Amino acid sequence: MLQTQRVNDTYFTCGQLSVESLKAAYQQGFLSVLCLRPDDEGGADQPSHQELRRQCEVLGLAFAYVPVEKGAITTTNAERLQQQLEKLPQPVLAFCASGNRAQALYSLAMPKQVEPYYEVLVVGGGAAGIGVSASLLKRQPKLSIAIIEPSEFHYYQPAWTLVGAGAFDPKKTERKTVDLIPYGAEWIRAAVSRFEPDQQRVVLSHGQCVNYKYLIVATGLEIAWDKIEGLEEALGNYGVTSNYRYDLAPYTWQLVQGLSQGKALFTQPPMPIKCAGAPQKAMYLSCDHWFKQDRLSQIDVELNNAGAVLFGVAEFVPPLMAYVKKYGAKLAFQSNLVKVDGPSQTAWFDVTDAQGQVKRVEKPFDMLHVVPPQQSPDVVRNSPLADPQGWCEVNQFTLQHVRYANVFSLGDVCSSPNAKTAAAVRKQIVVVAENLLAHMDGQELPTRYDGYGSCPLTVEKGKIVLAEFGFGGKLLPTFPLDPTVPRRSAWFLKTVMLPAIYWHAMLKGHEWLARPTQATEQT
Ligand code: FAD
Repeated sequence: MLQTQRVNDTYFTCGQLSVESLKAAYQQGFLSVLCLRPDDEGGADQPSHQELRRQCEVLGLAFAYVPVEKGAITTTNAERLQQQLEKLPQPVLAFCASGNRAQALYSLAMPKQVEPYYEVLVVGGGAAGIGVSASLLKRQPKLSIAIIEPSEFHYYQPAWTLVGAGAFDPKKTERKTVDLIPYGAEWIRAAVSRFEPDQQRVVLSHGQCVNYKYLIVATGLEIAWDKIEGLEEALGNYGVTSNYRYDLAPYTWQLVQGLSQGKALFTQPPMPIKCAGAPQKAMYLSCDHWFKQDRLSQIDVELNNAGAVLFGVAEFVPPLMAYVKKYGAKLAFQSNLVKVDGPSQTAWFDVTDAQGQVKRVEKPFDMLHVVPPQQSPDVVRNSPLADPQGWCEVNQFTLQHVRYANVFSLGDVCSSPNAKTAAAVRKQIVVVAENLLAHMDGQELPTRYDGYGSCPLTVEKGKIVLAEFGFGGKLLPTFPLDPTVPRRSAWFLKTVMLPAIYWHAMLKGHEWLARPTQATEQT
């Protein structure tokens, strides 16, 4: 197969063609060959343009000769190329010694038609997209790399649980995207509306295509607020809130301070969600406030969990149950929020019993903290990159796509079965950066991801059970301490250290606490 570089659907380039290779060009569907290399430039082994023309005639390919001196492309050359492109049947394969002149001449002749091209194209400028770009550029400062991200602002979402408990300034979770784009990367402010991995390009929402050699998919996940009837209209009023939105986390704290009696409902949707512990973290921190204000006995607290267990890693359930008991909270398992009516302060849950029968149950509330259902973004789910559940389908150890070797993915959107957290992203960045660059060099992929994710369970203001675990729930504590014990040091880590590590290390290519354990594919 002839190695060619696509500029757009009508114009492709390559290095020196031999008389024999013209057959491959014909078989790959080209209708014309354009020789841009002056005869005799490369010595005896360079065929003359007449020899190439004769073979093209035999094969039924159109042929044109526009000699361009190396390092001296002129506007006359560009005009001649334009004239030829008006006549030649397309697609055209243009060649010179390396293909570079053929690319540069086209840019000069048809500037508006050249689609941007990057060695690495990153889709999504969240935790994963910015972090991996910074790490790649740290290793190879000259890499041509662009980040496609529509949002003007970037958020440190892990602190929103603290904002909802009055323990963190919301403004400190927001920064301008432009200030975070790593030096050397280009920011394309747009959203991707289609992935076309077979053509090595993405299509932006305004229709422009961007081409790449390697793609990194880091779009995060999509929050499906609309899957709960009445929720969007109620949020921010009637005691209905969610720490999953920047503007609503402060409202959670307002509600917690204002509630002195009544019913407080907390909800957890079906997995997977980002930060699986966040629904109960909101409950513990609210209860802690009511407990310390001596109001808890007047407040009926209930966690409605669409799943069947309090936490997915069994070792952490006993310390969490101790807090559930301390706060007198009720646990309603297999109870999935499906509808909310704000004005009447009523919520409806589909409750599944032991026989699998589903019954709709109505519950009044004074405060409702909702964690909404979450899914892969449509743009990924409806693309050739998706697995059957819609996530970007990667090998969980290498984070390389299983069908497209030049595609990698990390963060919440990738199919790896780890806890979807920024902590996981911190480790995945190293894996993707090292594996992608090795692949670019034709080397074996050197680094394996161990599934590390972390969930700092804020069981009370000032204390955290630091749950750190990998694939299959294997405990992976960073510190040599019993991870099931609530600790003040973990609170300091969560509120002071981790935000600093995020902004100043992870997004800047400094890989602190980032290297995964030496995982093998048998772990
Ligand atoms: P994101 O950071 O969400 O970024 C995705 C980016 O992709 C966004 O900027 C978006 O605009 C962009 N994008 C989307 N679609 C497109 C498109 N079509 N084209 C281009 N760009 C697109 N993690 C922890 O480690 N610890 C915690 O304690 C913790 N607590 C959390 C509490 C809450 C309330 C929440 C909401 C999250 C929490 N997390 C926690 C999870 C953590 O924030 C995420 O796992 C992390 O942000 C994932 O990074 P990401 O880059 O994959 O996604």
